[in-house]
Amino acid sequence: MLEVHLGEVDISPKELDKRAAAREFPYDSGVWLFKELIHESMPSKCIVSRREGNTKLYSHKRVSEFAGIRELYLKHEGENPTGSFKDRGMTVGVSEAVRLKAKIVCCASTGNTSASLASYAALAGLKAVVFIPSGEIAYGKLAQSIAYGAKVVQIKGNFDDSMRLIQEAAAHLNMYILNSVNPWRIEGQKAITFELMQQMGWDGPDWIALPAGNLGNTSAMGKAFSELKELGFIEKIPRIAAIQSEGANPFYLMWKAGASELVRVKHPDTIASAIKIGNPVSWKKALKAMKISNGVVEQVSDNQILDAKAIIDASGIGCEPASAASLAGVKKLREKGVIKAGQKVVCILTGNILKDPNTTVSYHTNKLDSIKPSYMNPPVEVDGNLDAIMKALKA
Ligand SMILES: *Cc1c(COP(=O)(O)O)cnc(C)c1O
Repeated sequence: MLEVHLGEVDISPKELDKRAAAREFPYDSGVWLFKELIHESMPSKCIVSRREGNTKLYSHKRVSEFAGIRELYLKHEGENPTGSFKDRGMTVGVSEAVRLKAKIVCCASTGNTSASLASYAALAGLKAVVFIPSGEIAYGKLAQSIAYGAKVVQIKGNFDDSMRLIQEAAAHLNMYILNSVNPWRIEGQKAITFELMQQMGWDGPDWIALPAGNLGNTSAMGKAFSELKELGFIEKIPRIAAIQSEGANPFYLMWKAGASELVRVKHPDTIASAIKIGNPVSWKKALKAMKISNGVVEQVSDNQILDAKAIIDASGIGCEPASAASLAGVKKLREKGVIKAGQKVVCILTGNILKDPNTTVSYHTNKLDSIKPSYMNPPVEVDGNLDAIMKALKA
C-alpha cells in the first residue's frame, strides 16, 4: 500500500471545534478545573500548570479476568505530564511557592516527586533541590530530575533518611518544602478523586484501590471524599483499598492489629521503589481516610505486584511497578471474598510504564532474584538470515 486516499469527508471545521472542550486556562487543567475545591484564592498569574490530570479510564477483558471482577477500571495517572500523579499536587505546591515569592523549592523523593518538582520548578523559573536515596530510585525518574535541571543530591541512606534530612536542610537554607507534608500537595491530589467522580457521573464505584507508600495519596482521597459528601456532590463514599508491599508494610501492620500508633519498618524492601517507605509521613490522615470510607489495607508480595503489572502491560495499558500493587491487591481481596465479583472497582495506576524499564526487562528475561515471572515475554536473538527468523517465529 503506497498511499491512503480519503473517501467523502462528512465533518466541518466548526463541528470539530465544537467537539473540542471549550475549557480555558486554568480550567484546562484537571486540577485547576476544581479550583474552588482546591485553592480558591490562588491568583491566575501565579498558577504554574502543564494541563495536568485529564487522565483516562480504561477497562480490559484480560485485566478483569485476572482479578475476577467484571466491572474493573484503571484510571491512568501515568498520563500526567511527568508520568505520575505527583503532578497534581505539584502544580498547586509550586504555584503556592510562586505566590509566596519563594526562591528555592525542595523535596525528598522515591523519584516521582523529584521528577515532578524539577519540571514545575523549571517552568516557574525557581531553583529546585531534591534528595533521593542513593541507588534506590528507578532510572527514568533519576533521568528526569537531572534533565529538568534540579540539583540532585543522592543521600547515602533510604527514603526515610532523605525525608528527615530534607526537613532539617529546608529549615537551615530557607527552602520551600514540597513533600506531601506540605498541605497544598494533598489539596492538589484530591483532584484524582474529583475527576474520577466527574468521569463516572458523580456516582462512584464500590471500591477504589491505590498503592500506599508515604500515604499522601490515600490521605488526599479520604479528604476529597469527605468534602464531596459534605458539599452534597455525592451520597455514598466508595470503600478505599490501600495496598502496601509486604516488604514495606507499616500501615498494613498497624491497621491489621487495630493499633492507634504506627510502628515504622526499619529496613523497607520492595522492588516497587515508589512505595519503599518504612516511616510514612501521612499515616494519621490516611487512617482517617480508612475510617470515613470503611476502607481496608492489604499487602501483596513483589511477585504478585510484578505479575499484575505484566497483565496491565500486556493489555496495552502499562504502568510502573508500584502502580500494579493496586490490581494485585484487588485480586487478593477478591479471592478473600472482601470484594465481590459483581462490584464496580477502580484501580489507580499511579505511574507510567517507562519510569522503570530495568525492572520490566529483568522480569521478562527472568533475571530478578526471588521472582518467578508467570507472564514472561522475553525477546529472542537470532542470526541475521531468513531461515533463522522463520524458525524463531514458528517456535
Ligand atoms: C508516590 C507514588 C506512590 C505512593 O503514593 P503515596 O502518596 O506516597 O502513598 C505510588 N506509586 C507511584 C508511582 C508514586 O509515584
